[in-house]
Amino acid sequence: MEPEESLRERAREIARRLIREYPDAKCRLAFSSPFELLVATILAAQCTDDMVNKVTADLFKRASTPEDFARMPLAQLQKAVRSTGFYRNKAKAVKGMSKMLLEDFDGRVPVEMDDFLKLPGVARKTANVVRTAAYGLPAIITDTHFIRLAGRLGLTKNKRPDKIEADLCALLPEETWSPFSHAMLFHGRAVCTAKKPACDRCAVSDLCPSAFKFPHFEDRP
Ligand code: SF4
Repeated sequence: MEPEESLRERAREIARRLIREYPDAKCRLAFSSPFELLVATILAAQCTDDMVNKVTADLFKRASTPEDFARMPLAQLQKAVRSTGFYRNKAKAVKGMSKMLLEDFDGRVPVEMDDFLKLPGVARKTANVVRTAAYGLPAIITDTHFIRLAGRLGLTKNKRPDKIEADLCALLPEETWSPFSHAMLFHGRAVCTAKKPACDRCAVSDLCPSAFKFPHFEDRP
């Protein structure tokens, strides 16, 4: 097992390099308020940011506040978000979340994690996206890319997102959490993809215990 100090050093160097590699990495969802970002993030589950932006470009012209969404008939909302997939659950979550914001939070998107987690359809990942992009708070965002890369990089042995988040928060300085999360997402899309990681053009391959250990590298000398 890797000693704690060495793991910490390695994690920090990985973060340094990936943040340098993707200096412009940030949330790609389009929004003009914390509430719009919360809606967009709920819609982004199992969907691409581009598709969500296409849907919300039209949707936010018709509805952009908790009042608007609480009032909108469910069938109309389902139709509007249909192309993001899982549209029944997403429409229900957006309406439920909007109603709770009006009833319990004065119509405002909360800042505290505990408050976010009371909202229907909102888990830690969604909360952290909003806390980072809308409020500038530091957060480790455990999306599917982050989870896959953190495992391959040997930065955690945990599988549960909340535990992975806690492990990485303990390893890295707070000011790196958000840029590192975004860099990991970009790296996961561009290089360390799910099916065929491109270790031969990876900026952290010398720090990665999984480097070149994939079937497509079997013939490598
Ligand atoms: S070396 Fe390969 S497995 Fe490791 S992070 Fe880079 S692309 Fe992913």
